[in-house]
Amino acid sequence: MDSVGVAADAGPGPAWRSKCPWGAPNTTSISCSLADVMSEQLAKELQLEEENAAFPEVVAVAEGPFITGENTDTSSDLMLAQMLQMEFDREYDAQLRREEKKINGDSKVSISFENYRKVHPYDSDSSEDEVDWQDTRHDPYRADKPTTTPRRGFVGKGKDITTKHDEVVCGRKNTARMENFAPEFQVGDGIGMDLKLSNQVFNALKQHAYSEERRSARLHEKKEHSTAEKAVDPKTRLLMYKMINSGMLETITGCISTGKESVVFHAYGGESATEDKVIPPECAIKVFKTTLNEFKNRDKYIKDDYRFKDRFGRLNPRKIIRMWAEKEMHNLTRMQNAGIPCPKVVLLKKHVLVMSFIGQDQVPAPKLKDVTLSSEDMKKAYHQILNMMQQLYKECNLVHADLSEYNMLWHDGKVWLIDVSQSVEPTHPHGLEFLFRDCRNVSQFFQKGGVAEALNERELFNAVSGLNITADNEVDFQEEIEALEKRNEDHVQNHGKKLSRFSSSGDPPIYDE
Ligand code: ADP
Ligand code: MN
Repeated sequence: MDSVGVAADAGPGPAWRSKCPWGAPNTTSISCSLADVMSEQLAKELQLEEENAAFPEVVAVAEGPFITGENTDTSSDLMLAQMLQMEFDREYDAQLRREEKKINGDSKVSISFENYRKVHPYDSDSSEDEVDWQDTRHDPYRADKPTTTPRRGFVGKGKDITTKHDEVVCGRKNTARMENFAPEFQVGDGIGMDLKLSNQVFNALKQHAYSEERRSARLHEKKEHSTAEKAVDPKTRLLMYKMINSGMLETITGCISTGKESVVFHAYGGESATEDKVIPPECAIKVFKTTLNEFKNRDKYIKDDYRFKDRFGRLNPRKIIRMWAEKEMHNLTRMQNAGIPCPKVVLLKKHVLVMSFIGQDQVPAPKLKDVTLSSEDMKKAYHQILNMMQQLYKECNLVHADLSEYNMLWHDGKVWLIDVSQSVEPTHPHGLEFLFRDCRNVSQFFQKGGVAEALNERELFNAVSGLNITADNEVDFQEEIEALEKRNEDHVQNHGKKLSRFSSSGDPPIYDE
């Protein structure tokens, strides 16, 4: 940040500054004698002080939490630049869209400018920024209706009629249109003159400008992806930045975990002015990764989940990722209501879920796989988990579907369940298989951990589900589970109704009316 304009901004400063997570600016006033004022040295010092007071966050942000991994040498200038760039890209695309409409009109054959867009189509739903994701009455996945602009193709009346093919008008328009090329594309000062470009020249220029654009976009994209691997992409960073600016979060201290599908940060809660909710003193921010590849193989969890069924077909991958976040929120809420120890949901914004932090003083509670428990605690943990699995199934109507010592934390002398974005209802077409896998993990962990009374996976499955599958070996058991799933699925197909619960073996399935 250069010092231009700093002297002019010597006032108390805008309101947001008082909320700045990096501390309030120092506004001590210095009184001094005339002689001192004359001193050039002092003037310089004052100027410097003023600068520091006016822009304290410039320095702070450089060490701030958003700048992780590679970009440690950047400052808030980068953030500003990125915000501006995003704004610019959006405007650029809007102009491109207008241009596209103008060219195509209502003609049957149309040219698409899709490839020239700056903002990836999955990114372009910025209007949803303010969507309240916890308001489930609103369907955020609704597809936009296509709009068309009728084309007249001429202006004026009688002999004054000017068609769009008029050479002079067209030439001037072409010149003006050059403004819409990317800013780095040098068009000279022709725009200000009464310059007429022929269609041919204009089109050649346009073609060139666009291919240049595409080239730079490709480079840009590569860069973006590599940093997203390290931490989060600029859009997400902006979202997190907004949470601090709104006062909801105090500071984001750093990254707790980088998994294949999510990045988790620790943050200190702030005092939100808008939400009436109490923000926990420490929060975990789970950012669902927007690199799409890893999510493909998770389709089966969500695709067959009737809760999301209607939406799935017409969603783009980015929205599907948001759905994971949404799913985690809903599932955590159900668990919270049943009294199962798990993170409390604070806020969901797009693919970013803020919840209470399990742990203390920035140290996350250890996973069950990393903690060494006394045999007493191990036994306690086992019984607690058995209990939680039953509650989850019966009261929350959920199967965790990724339950293992990796997704259970030991905190405050008890086990906490986390990571429920993939959890499904038991009547999900593969729900029972997921449950059986959960049981296998839990059973094996505790049997290896020396808990003598730990049920084996089949016993545990029956204890949790209340089903009474009698097979005495794994293979047969698995087969019976699949048969049960199939029978219920057929039933759903025939009756066109969703099953609410599995019945105990034999009886017809139970529906919620
Ligand atoms: P993933 O899908 O990447 O496994 P998780 O929800 O399991 O996502 O989170 C990854 C890790 O982040 C967890 O193993 C845990 O260590 C930490 N973590 C996640 N949520 C919380 C939380 N609310 N409090 C403390 N640590 C958490
Ligand atoms: Mn996990």
